[in-house]
Amino acid sequence: MTASSATPGRERTAVAGACRRLGAEGLLIGTAGNVSVRVEDRVAITATGAVLADLTPDQVTVVDLDGKVVTGDLQPTSELELHLGVYRRYGAGAVVHTHAPMATAVSCVLDELPCLHYQLLALGGTVRVAPYATFGTPELAESVLTALDGRSAALMANHGALTHAPTLGKAVENALLLEWACGVYQRAAAMGRPRVLDEQQQLAVVEAAIARNYGATHPVPPAQEEVR
Ligand SMILES: [Zn+2]
Repeated sequence: MTASSATPGRERTAVAGACRRLGAEGLLIGTAGNVSVRVEDRVAITATGAVLADLTPDQVTVVDLDGKVVTGDLQPTSELELHLGVYRRYGAGAVVHTHAPMATAVSCVLDELPCLHYQLLALGGTVRVAPYATFGTPELAESVLTALDGRSAALMANHGALTHAPTLGKAVENALLLEWACGVYQRAAAMGRPRVLDEQQQLAVVEAAIARNYGATHPVPPAQEEVR
């Protein structure tokens, strides 16, 4: 038995929970945005027109990788092709698209969010802004897929943001990280020209993170016998 055929309900519940979390954090407002998770050849994705901060599992539709509805009564989001494109091209496990206020503001001004804090390296460093195209179109999907090259996040000009990750929890964390970084950029830019980490500084962070297994918790080593 495969996870996808055995537990479509679990994925729908997980997507609904992720939407309520992102709604509580202020990243999903009203019906704007969409979230999906892939398990094998099935994708559980939010329905079009649903209020995301109050989402229930029956407002999540399960489709196959061609977009054909497998489970659910509601039409999937109009950005379905964008999500499927991220799964096909980058082998992602989950995708989060929001119209979060800080990210959307940055997307209206910049061509890329510079790497002004080392935490952005978790998303691949600078975050590109995909050129504008009408929502739900193949042009927008292609624009965003190109901007995602080597990154787990992209901003979408005058529209919003997209993040992906191997798991739904990590895709949500990436969305929160991107929104935080866009907020930091705006505050910094209001005071002056933000400094940006150069390539050498970025490389040193990557090396330090690998050496220290950054991002994981570490138990305190057992107390050593006191030396007298
Ligand atoms: Zn959108």
